[in-house]
This record gives sequence, C-alpha cells and structure tokens, in this order.
Amino acid sequence: MVEYTPKERLAHVLTGQSVDRMPAVSFTQTATVEQMEACGAFWPQANDDAEKMAKLAEAGHTVVGFEAVRVPFDITAEAEFFGCEIKAGTKEQQPSVVGHVVKSVEDIEKLKDYDLDHGRIGVVCDAIKILADKYGSELPVIGSMIGPFSLAQHLNGDDWFMAIFTDEAFGLALMEFTTQFNVAYARKMVENGADTMVIIDPTASAQLIGAQFYEKFVVPYHRKIVDAMHELDVATVLHICGDTTQGLSLMEACDVDAISVDQSVNVSDAMDKVSEAIIVGNLDPVNVLWNKTPEVVKQKSKELLDIGVPLLAPGCGIVSKTPTENLQAMVEMAKSHSYP
Ligand SMILES: [Zn+2]
Repeated sequence: MVEYTPKERLAHVLTGQSVDRMPAVSFTQTATVEQMEACGAFWPQANDDAEKMAKLAEAGHTVVGFEAVRVPFDITAEAEFFGCEIKAGTKEQQPSVVGHVVKSVEDIEKLKDYDLDHGRIGVVCDAIKILADKYGSELPVIGSMIGPFSLAQHLNGDDWFMAIFTDEAFGLALMEFTTQFNVAYARKMVENGADTMVIIDPTASAQLIGAQFYEKFVVPYHRKIVDAMHELDVATVLHICGDTTQGLSLMEACDVDAISVDQSVNVSDAMDKVSEAIIVGNLDPVNVLWNKTPEVVKQKSKELLDIGVPLLAPGCGIVSKTPTENLQAMVEMAKSHSYP
C-alpha cells in the first residue's frame, strides 16, 4: 500500500487523484482559546506577530490533530493594509473592518503603490515562512486571504452593493485593483512556502447579487487568481458563506479545485451541481462544533461521510470557544474514512 504524507494526500485529493483515506484539514480559520492556552500564543497578538501566528497555527496540528497548518485567523489584514480603520480583536474575537478608504476611481489610484512586505500582509508571509521551514516537507501549508469581491466591499463600505449595480466602471476598476493585489499576495505566500491557497470571499454570493452580476463581477476575477496559482502548481479552494447551492456551477466556472460550502448548503445537492470541483464541508461551526458533544460531532460527520462528501471540514470559520475534543472528533472521523 502506498504511504502518503499529509501534504501528498491533500494535493492528490484536490487534484482529483486517488488516495488511501480522507485528509483531516480545515480550510477555514482554525484557532481556538483552548489552543491558545495550550501553546501560549493568544489573539489578538497572534494576528500581528509572525512568530505567535505560526505558533498558534501549529497548535491546529499539535493540539487538535489537523494534518495541515494554516494562516491567518481573520480576514481584515488586507483592508488594514490599505488603511481601513479596524476594530481591534480580543482573545475570543477576530478584528473587524469599521472604516473604508475608497469612494472613487481616484481613491483607487492612490492605493496602487504598495509594498507586500509591510503591515500584516508581511506578517502573514513571514508566518508562512516559519511554518514552511518547519513542516513544509510533511504537512500542507495553507495560505488564506480574503477574496477580491469582499475586499472591495471592505475598501468601499456598505455602498459597494449599490456601486456594482449603478456604477459599473467604478465597480470593475475596484475589482481589477483588488484582484491584482490578491494575485500578488497569493504569489508571495507561495514564494514563502504556501502550497495550498484558500480564497475566503464571504459576500461574493450569486444568491446576494444574482447570477448575471456574479458572472461579471466575480467569475473573471476569481479565475485570474486561480490561473496564477495553477501556473505555480498550487491548488485553490474557494469559500463563500451562506446558501451557495444555486451559484455553485458559476463558482466552479473560475476553475477552482475545491469549493468549501457553508452549513446551509445540502452537500448532496452541492455535489450534483458541480462537475469537477471537490465539495468541502460542512459541519455547522456554531450548532455542532461549538455547542454540541464529540458524540454529536461524530454522528453529524458520519451523515456527511455517508452521503459522500469528498472532504469533511467545518462549514465556515471555527468559533474560538470550540472545545478541542469536538474538533478532534471531526479529525478522527475524517482520518477513519477510506476512499472507495
Ligand atoms: Zn463562511
């Protein structure tokens, strides 16, 4: 029997090749208070310090048993990098974006000269380097970033949804800008040792903006990122929040390798909607992983495995107060599942 490293196993699954069993990974944020206490690296410091960020990401592997390491833990580093005002996070809560910096095409021009070594973008890349040096030969090193549509929303604020409907030139210019940044940032993460890329684009939902606007404002931009990653032989996973069922074939149109679906999606419906993309999901992070017992986590995992989910994982970011034993129950169920 072939022995796979966790890195080979995940790479095989994401490219549709056969393997011995399911990898145990999370493509969404992994940090919890129990892991912080176990490893001594806490939020919010672990969001700003590469050593601490790497340490807390490592706890996902050493404490929980995930067969991968993943950074960062939030989706505000990108907006912060461009000067948006951020509400600081706490030990239990991620930071959030509260101020916005782009109202016009002229504002976009002012942001075009940036240096990826700076700010938290630089911190994430440094953390990836630390993790890749330590684990890169064995474990997948997962780099994650906010997607271009949700970054545009962070930069523009609540006007963004109206903007795409009423000011196409501005909307497309901002998508072009955020996407160029995403491509450069993703390449830099890969240069530093990331081998798997996750695009978290929570509000880029066809359910919210409609298929026509999704095709125009999202698909070509996601495709640019995915193409840039494929040139580097890096598999890419796309996560969009909410019930994405009706938009799944459009989501797949950007050639992404895997799609992480939210708990509001029925996984067997999702699998019917895609032709090649691997469906990832979708244990409820609140009502199952956080608030239930390991036994319930195992039961819910079994239900997903029985309907054939290709990759068992949380349906969205893991809640910081989630008990380790619940995450371990999910890991155990994934690892015990051999592929036919
Ligand atoms: Zn989500």
